[in-house]
Amino acid sequence: MALDSASDTSLLLGTEDVPPVFEENAGSRSPFLLTSDHYGRIIPRALGDLGLPSSELTRHIAWDIGIAGVAEALSKHLDAHLIAQRYSRLVIDCNRPPQAASSIPRISEATVIPGNEGLSEQAAAARRRLIFEPYHRRIAEVIDARLRDGIPTVLVSLHSFTPVYAGIARPLHIGTLYHRDTKLAPLLLTLLRQETDLVVGDNEPYAVSDDTDYTIPVHGEARGLMNTGIEIRQDLIADPAGQKQWADRLARILAEIEATLRAERLI
Ligand SMILES: [Zn+2]
Repeated sequence: MALDSASDTSLLLGTEDVPPVFEENAGSRSPFLLTSDHYGRIIPRALGDLGLPSSELTRHIAWDIGIAGVAEALSKHLDAHLIAQRYSRLVIDCNRPPQAASSIPRISEATVIPGNEGLSEQAAAARRRLIFEPYHRRIAEVIDARLRDGIPTVLVSLHSFTPVYAGIARPLHIGTLYHRDTKLAPLLLTLLRQETDLVVGDNEPYAVSDDTDYTIPVHGEARGLMNTGIEIRQDLIADPAGQKQWADRLARILAEIEATLRAERLI
């Protein structure tokens, strides 16, 4: 571990670290703008392993298992712009307001994160400045450009959830997450419920709120965009076959939603 060096803002991401933002299909004119806040589980080299064994750094506490493969395949299917964040949510959670205690978690589920203990304000600011802010700045820029160019934009925030949390099994296969937009999620729920093999959650296993979320409130609701979050259970998308199957299914459903929104002249 080399945790001390992380207190120097300029050293958090070095020349051997990758940029936080990953994109596919930039410039696409599909109405769907896909985001993935918990796409990756990379730790900046300066932070070592955050004091955790590798068995913890591959668990759901570090990232949204399986969602990267789904997001990339879905982006390809729909020819939709995907903006994703490569660093672990244990470094900084890109779907939490920076002032929230869970932004840089000291504990996740039952795991204490030694590298996040007693963090200086300067070290926390470095994580915000070099990971959180570039990701959200890029999403904001893309929305600005789309609005300027008159491209309709429907924000879809992609996540996955652990099948067992704190010892409790979760029977849902997929859930929609929403708050102020009452158009997109009900449409999505209707179509998901027509898939007779699925157990579908309505604002489950999580609901969106201003205190616990960032991407939907800030980039969807505050910008007046139709939006929804999608949560897929991780054991269903743990391998490439499952990721492809779910991307195929979501691409079919989102194409149907696009047709409906166009017919209703909402996009
Ligand atoms: Zn997530």
